[in-house]
Amino acid sequence: MKSVLLMIIVVLVLALIVALVIYTIFNKIRAAVRPYGQILQAIKDADDSQMRTPKSLSGTEPVHRDKLNKDFPEMNVDVAKTIISNFLSEYFAALSDGNIDRIKEDCSSQLCDKIIANAKTNRITYSDVKVHRVVVSDYKKNNKEATITFQAAVQYVSSRTKKISQEKYLVLYSYYLDYGDEGENASLVCPYCGAPIDTIGMKVCPYCDNAIEASIVRTWKITDVKYNTYG
Ligand SMILES: [Zn+2]
Repeated sequence: MKSVLLMIIVVLVLALIVALVIYTIFNKIRAAVRPYGQILQAIKDADDSQMRTPKSLSGTEPVHRDKLNKDFPEMNVDVAKTIISNFLSEYFAALSDGNIDRIKEDCSSQLCDKIIANAKTNRITYSDVKVHRVVVSDYKKNNKEATITFQAAVQYVSSRTKKISQEKYLVLYSYYLDYGDEGENASLVCPYCGAPIDTIGMKVCPYCDNAIEASIVRTWKITDVKYNTYG
């Protein structure tokens, strides 16, 4: 009688051990053959997270900042960067719906026309637009015009790819003559003595010492937005 009881206990213990072994093996197999979709999702998540990490941009800003501060002491570069950042969000909204009302004050008329044309022909919509960072990547000035090039890292989901991507864009910001009633020539000479004014940002005529700032209307406008292909 005793040996029968012992046999039952031994069988039960053995069954338990076998069950444990089977359970462990089954778990290992299940982990090894993780559903394909789950693996794809993991790859996509890694991809998305990479696209959400701000891309590195041009590191030459300090050099251009020094020159800008000299030529335009009244200009606040950080405010300009905020303007560009806000503009870019609205720019992609305008490309999506073809409505440039929100940005036409900041754009040159050529750029406004280009945005409308692009919206019509490409018909791509952009959602979840996020401007990560804006830096000054170039600055050029001649007698007639000054142009700051901003480089920006922009993240969005486009209707073409339907996934998150982050791209670099160049935004050209130009200080140029806003032709008034008197036209271009009127703005390029001193209204008091007729001397040519050939330096942007000049506030006093070097010939007659009259203040000329108010008579020369120049303004900062965004003149182009380009996809930054290199780098
Ligand atoms: Zn003068």
